[in-house]
Amino acid sequence: MTHPYISRFAPSPSGPLHFGSLLAAVAGWLDARAAGGLWLLRIEDIDPPREPSGAKQWILDALIAHGLHYDGEAMLQSGRDAAYAAALDELAAAGMLFRCTCTRQDLRAHGGVYPGTCRERGMTPLPDGTPHALRVRVPDGDAARIRFQDRLRGAFEFDLAAEQGDFIVRRKDGLWAYQLAVVVDDAEQGITDVVRGVDLLDSTPRQIHLQRLLGLPTPRYLHLPILVDERGDKLSKQAGAQGLDLATPRANLARALAWLDLPADPGLDVGVQLQRALAVYRPQNLPPGPIHLC
Ligand code: GLU
Ligand code: ZN
Repeated sequence: MTHPYISRFAPSPSGPLHFGSLLAAVAGWLDARAAGGLWLLRIEDIDPPREPSGAKQWILDALIAHGLHYDGEAMLQSGRDAAYAAALDELAAAGMLFRCTCTRQDLRAHGGVYPGTCRERGMTPLPDGTPHALRVRVPDGDAARIRFQDRLRGAFEFDLAAEQGDFIVRRKDGLWAYQLAVVVDDAEQGITDVVRGVDLLDSTPRQIHLQRLLGLPTPRYLHLPILVDERGDKLSKQAGAQGLDLATPRANLARALAWLDLPADPGLDVGVQLQRALAVYRPQNLPPGPIHLC
């Protein structure tokens, strides 16, 4: 698919949607509609052990209840194994992949930057059943510098080698890593614009690195403000953030719009609220955040 503007909402079905995800969905929907573009849905269901049953349907119901209609069919990452495997083959053929047997404990002393321990092993087979992750190499020196422009936040420069190092593309438990799946699928869906929470800003350089290695286009990025609790921590399903009450979509939507500094009126139907917000939406006027939930 090619189109001047295609973005996506890409929730992980690790629980019901909460206010943080609603905020991202509303801003993403507005940005796509304001651009006259497409807004696609991709369910990032690559972690079955952390997916409560019914979570996917809950997400679909929540979007519809809030008037957030997406274009086309939802993509499910659980059906994309072959594409992820092909991307790994390509990285391996380019000599960019290696097997890593390090434990979390081995890496603890390195402050989150992979020290290169298993790099030279490459893809040499390990004795049967040896648990290992697959990591992609990050170049040293200047080649590791990744620059990108955020539509809301301006220019970023990131030293991938110094700040993260070689990173995981297939986990030790055999599951695909988020970084790999997101890059392969953004390309498959023809995404031109990634609109997502600023908590994922430090994933962007890893994704750009993978796009370059795989010969895939780099989309534009807009990192939204995220909702935080009184302590300033991101709301997450893991942290027990409450699911949205689907009995009160008008009030939920009005709250999300107000956080985005857009006109909000819980007395109006969700479709009308969205149209009123759309009429004045300008991406550059989004608040950078963080937004306190209270
Ligand atoms: N699935 C990710 C999440 O729910 C978002 C991925 C993305 O937008 O790139 O946090
Ligand atoms: Zn290792």
